[in-house]
Amino acid sequence: MKVLFVANEVEPYAKVGGLGDVAGSLPPALADRGLQVAVVMPLHRSCRRHGPLQSALEGLEVDMGGRSITAEVMSGSLGGKVPVYFIRHEPYFDRPDIYGEGGTDYPDAAERYAFFCRAVRALPEAIGFEADVVHGNDWPTGLVPALIAHGPSPRATVYTIHNLGYQGRFPVAQAEAMGLEAEPAVRRALTHGGWLNYMAAGIRTSTVVSTVSRRYAQEIQTKAFGAGLENLLLARSDDLFGIRNGVDCALWDPATDEALPANYSADDHAAKSACKTALQAELGLAPEPDVPLVGVVTRMAWQKGLDLLAEAIPQAVDWPMQFAVLGEGETPLEIKFRRLQETQPDRVATIIGYDDAVARRIYAGADMFAMPSRYEPCGLGQMIAMCYGAVPVVSWTGGLADTVTEELPDRNGFVFSDLDATGLLNALGRANDAWHDREGWAGLVRANLTRAPHDFCWDQSAEHYESLYRTALERAG
Ligand code: ADP
Repeated sequence: MKVLFVANEVEPYAKVGGLGDVAGSLPPALADRGLQVAVVMPLHRSCRRHGPLQSALEGLEVDMGGRSITAEVMSGSLGGKVPVYFIRHEPYFDRPDIYGEGGTDYPDAAERYAFFCRAVRALPEAIGFEADVVHGNDWPTGLVPALIAHGPSPRATVYTIHNLGYQGRFPVAQAEAMGLEAEPAVRRALTHGGWLNYMAAGIRTSTVVSTVSRRYAQEIQTKAFGAGLENLLLARSDDLFGIRNGVDCALWDPATDEALPANYSADDHAAKSACKTALQAELGLAPEPDVPLVGVVTRMAWQKGLDLLAEAIPQAVDWPMQFAVLGEGETPLEIKFRRLQETQPDRVATIIGYDDAVARRIYAGADMFAMPSRYEPCGLGQMIAMCYGAVPVVSWTGGLADTVTEELPDRNGFVFSDLDATGLLNALGRANDAWHDREGWAGLVRANLTRAPHDFCWDQSAEHYESLYRTALERAG
């Protein structure tokens, strides 16, 4: 089976959040199962930093609804296993940020992703990769299934929602720039509630729809989590599947991670405390071995419940607890965490920015890992944390609810369902108490280090995607 996997972020070439991890690790896992997979993404500026790229095709003619734009196709690969095709058009994609600055989209977002989706439609024929299934991911690819469904050669499409909170919603006046004037059926597929909505188009027109955990697949069919698209999703509930994301356990392994000051494994995790000491020194926290350290690695967004964390921290530091927070995004949240560091420099470290190596040292050096998300489609942070022996403290929602349990005998973390600072504080308090039972805690860390790589690696989920592709092929006839 040939699959063309389409995404705006693909690790290591471009990553903002979990989508980048998934698009970088699922295609190789599918290739390991014998599928023929190629990936296509825009040539963002960051892509060039990761190895030499070859020119695969100089003149890809992209029809923008009557207006033609010539793109170049470059190629690279994921681990020498999966070809990656980059759509190169510098005016649209050679920019400092992938989406835009400070968590907002560039003003021409509707147009640049219309161009990308149209390039994706033209690609299979141009490079001789006639995909059986085209698999789009998140809003920047939402136009792909619509163009294929209403184009000359319909084929099976899968559309995966990684986060319904980002829909690619634009005023109808953008239709012309997107080249929709001559394509009324495609335009209708995009129209939702008086806007042009990429996500709505993907949901309506793909052969099957999926999202990244079972619980989130249920949640998004309700008003509370559907972000205005719940009725579209309910209408497609027979074609809507939930497949939990996996983690690339070779990339996220504390036994081999070169960013860490010391390596450790489930068999011998004594060196984890050396990682904690080094992290406290690196971030300027007080060298307090007897204080539990809570790590946070996150996009700074309302979704992530970081305002609740900021509210909880002043009390938790007095128990005492320490916090190491790495993230970037919405400015008011960045300011809140900077202030917390200023008032509690011994116990709160805030690093504003995106830094893979620091993230790794936080997962390794932290005793606990906090994710108080308001909603969480899957969440990778909590799974990575468990692979590194940091015990998650999470809200009971979406993929967090599917992967973390406080129930004995399977306890692997701490979970709260009252979504406020008190609920979070209570869960942090239970984690704090458990941490002071040093033997019990070591058992929990060891159990997570042992089980997480097995439970969360891609094997099972890649198998589910393969059967989803077969379902799409059957349903597409
Ligand atoms: P989301 O996709 O909503 O951002 P996930 O938990 O699914 O959240 O995935 C986040 C991924 O991005 C993880 O791999 C995490 O380590 C990484 N990440 C998030 N913020 C940063 C940051 N500031 N620096 C480094 N890595 C980050």
